Amino acid sequence: MIIVMLGNIGTGKGTQGKLIMKNYNIPYISTGDIFRENIKNNTELGLKVKSILNDGKLVNDELVNQIVFDKIKNLDSFVIDGYPRTIYQAEKFENFVNNLNRKLDIVFSIIVSEENIIKRLTGRRICPECGKIYNIYFDKPEKDEICNFDGEKLIQREDDKIEIVKKRIEEFKENTEPVIEYYRNKNILYEIDGEKEIFEVFNDIKRVIDDYIKK
Ligand SMILES: [Zn+2]
Repeated sequence: MIIVMLGNIGTGKGTQGKLIMKNYNIPYISTGDIFRENIKNNTELGLKVKSILNDGKLVNDELVNQIVFDKIKNLDSFVIDGYPRTIYQAEKFENFVNNLNRKLDIVFSIIVSEENIIKRLTGRRICPECGKIYNIYFDKPEKDEICNFDGEKLIQREDDKIEIVKKRIEEFKENTEPVIEYYRNKNILYEIDGEKEIFEVFNDIKRVIDDYIKK
């Protein structure tokens, strides 16, 4: 079974993808994780990706496709997160999968309002000492900007700053919303309300997958 997780940043699609992995015992593939892993290990690919990102550019479609195809070529089942991000990637992905005599089974689109995405991400604060994560809107520390456990001053990650978050939301609208439409037209898109509690969201996802398996 091949499952695709689509959704804006901050919608929890990665968390849900990992729950699918655990519940159905299929590999979870995240292009973001592959990039981070390669950068950390200073591989050839990592160095390439790092220099692209340092220039403030997006990793190009060909390179992303190559990485994904290499990862999935021997897998019958998997859940993939953060891909395809553009129509070009979506078309090539489909060709690749079809050439292996397989098909995409389910595409999930996890939906959270823009207002809540911004709160989830820009409200996030991290303790540099113990790693505890807070949110100034949903899960405040007892004292403003101070860790409950060790009194350390909380920090905000660079990626969670409002300008970056807004830029990534725009990028999603421009590139990935057309991908959602693409799958809607193929009747394999399932929209999921991502504003509920994590396990409620997962129950909605599970219902779709279980119904699909029964068919
Ligand atoms: Zn702490």
